[in-house]
Amino acid sequence: MNLNKDPFLAVSNSIKNHYLEDWQKSNKKIVGHYYTYIPEELLHAANLLSFRIKATGHEDTDLGDVYMVRFTCLFVRATLDMALRGLYDFLDGLFICNSCDHSRRMFELFDLKVFNRESFQKKVPRFYISLPHIITDEGFEWYKKEVEELKEEIEKNYNLKTITDEELFDSIKIYNKNRHLLREIHKYRIRDSPKINGTEALQISMANSSVPKDIANQELERILNLLKDSEGLKTDSKRVMLIGSEVDDINFTKLIEDSGGIIVSDFLCFGTRNFLDDVRLEDRNNPLESISKRLYYRMSCPRMMDDHQRRLDFLKDEIKQAKVDGIILQRINNCDLHGCDNMLYVHELKELDLPILNIDREFFQADTTRLQTRIEAFIEMIS
Ligand code: SF4
Repeated sequence: MNLNKDPFLAVSNSIKNHYLEDWQKSNKKIVGHYYTYIPEELLHAANLLSFRIKATGHEDTDLGDVYMVRFTCLFVRATLDMALRGLYDFLDGLFICNSCDHSRRMFELFDLKVFNRESFQKKVPRFYISLPHIITDEGFEWYKKEVEELKEEIEKNYNLKTITDEELFDSIKIYNKNRHLLREIHKYRIRDSPKINGTEALQISMANSSVPKDIANQELERILNLLKDSEGLKTDSKRVMLIGSEVDDINFTKLIEDSGGIIVSDFLCFGTRNFLDDVRLEDRNNPLESISKRLYYRMSCPRMMDDHQRRLDFLKDEIKQAKVDGIILQRINNCDLHGCDNMLYVHELKELDLPILNIDREFFQADTTRLQTRIEAFIEMIS
């Protein structure tokens, strides 16, 4: 089956979409967030549509470069560039945490240069939360308190009555269902005869983060039904695992899949890391604490400094499950977090006796021919 022309996947190709327009027409608010340590269930319970900030298709950083030095991650500079050009003016709020130093810096820049620029009159509340870079019980207490304060800030800034536990429970159910559906779709990707490729999986994930969650759930259920009834892809492509920095542009995954590979699994922000863990509801008394627990203790990204071994164990297991033939490690230039993890994986994954390609790349497709040559050569090398 080819999901290429599916209308839900098409949502991933642009920043704005008709679901966002409909949402705002009914006087509801859209808030942007960077990265996955923002408690989206809390935003949902406040009736805010959380939109994951991306720079899909944007290839300019001229304006962003005025405020960020060139050794800052190009993904972050591209999103700043877009915001300075007014492409994120539709947001009614912004949520940032200290995921990495590059994205953390965006808080001040959005504050000073984007939402306070002369030509911009709208009042856009900004929220910042911090969490420790290590996983300890004390660290969790810190993060839990940040999330509790965030709840109060949201109520104050959007003139809401108290967000109730019932509302939080409802949002948790919707988000848990969303993650469950993504996991079910993922099963069709890692099977012996995949029914979905890596580019389509990325598109589903990006669309999922840009529309209201109840609509996303309906769409994911529809896609799941299509997949159930479809035949596997007829392909003899080499099975690849893609690991590393932010990927929010299908040109990169297409380059791999047009070169003779099929990305059967990944370890990316817009990928498996998003849906591995659910909010547990054993503690029926404190849903906000349960939301914080999931975010803090879930399968981490490299910003959690002391959790590398757990990430490595997940990778080894997933590589086995998905019967991977070759591993592509990639980082956007200057992304120190993924650069460090990738450097360790190169050595640690050797024991699996699989070919590994480790590349540094620009955020948007640049120097395509050189990249294509390296990827084609790597895929040819896989026996
Ligand atoms: S790609 Fe790396 S440097 Fe860029 S925002 Fe993500 S973690 Fe930070």
